[in-house]
Amino acid sequence: SLPTIFVITPTYARLVQKAELTRLSQTLLHVPQLHWILVEDSPHKTPLVTDFLAKSGLSYTHLHTPTPKDRKLQEGDPSWLKPRGAEQRNEGLRWLREDRRAQQGADSQQGVVYFADDDNTYSLQLFEEMRNTQRVSVWPVGLVGGMRYERPVVEGGKVVRFHTGWRPSRPFPLDMAGFAVSLRLVLDNQDACFDGDAPMGFLESSFLQGLVTMDELEPKADNCSKVLVWHTRTEKPKMKREEALQAQGLGSDT
Ligand code: UDP
Ligand code: MN
Repeated sequence: SLPTIFVITPTYARLVQKAELTRLSQTLLHVPQLHWILVEDSPHKTPLVTDFLAKSGLSYTHLHTPTPKDRKLQEGDPSWLKPRGAEQRNEGLRWLREDRRAQQGADSQQGVVYFADDDNTYSLQLFEEMRNTQRVSVWPVGLVGGMRYERPVVEGGKVVRFHTGWRPSRPFPLDMAGFAVSLRLVLDNQDACFDGDAPMGFLESSFLQGLVTMDELEPKADNCSKVLVWHTRTEKPKMKREEALQAQGLGSDT
């Protein structure tokens, strides 16, 4: 049978949340043998996400954990100041490890884990590239780090360095969207997790360090020559008119 792809997605309440989740879920619906672990950055499960998932048609697990206030980005902070979604990804890993321990049979340990932010753009081909990951597979990510793309550079079938605009000396100068990890490796390394205090650009490294070395990385997407995922970001919608109506007492409350 096909190895299961476990997709861990942090998400948080904002105007575009339902739009992002709609787009992502409708991509995931096209992927066979996939389980979505959606983790709300919230002290409780919200009705919006609960209802959304119930109608999604996907196999899913709904989790939540709030980012501690001192780690959360405040209004006006530049987006690079603190890592986003670290606690939520760790909560997804915690659930996955516990759930897999409870499952019987050799198949239950076969699979791959991918961290998919709710606002990126994913090609269906990407999921088939990652499905047979042995340890950690890698590929290019488009529109990230102030570049058209970042990518691992492959020579003789091995990753020898990284094409990145910024601090290539990081242990793993990869975007979150640029790698997947085998379930086996996640289960064999119970302590591997994301460090929410990691300095900018080191969140991915904090997880991958200790799991894998550069020469063990499995290059996908045609030796990392194809972009199959894009680090797109959604513009924050302006609510000027909405606010004007509200001030006149004419706002809608739906
Ligand atoms: N996120 C979150 N809580 C926050 C901000 C972001 O759970 O306070 C999630 C977000 O929904 C996304 C991931 O964390 O799935 C990465 O956030 P974002 O896309 O804003 O990061 P960037 O694109 O700037 O790296
Ligand atoms: Mn994003």
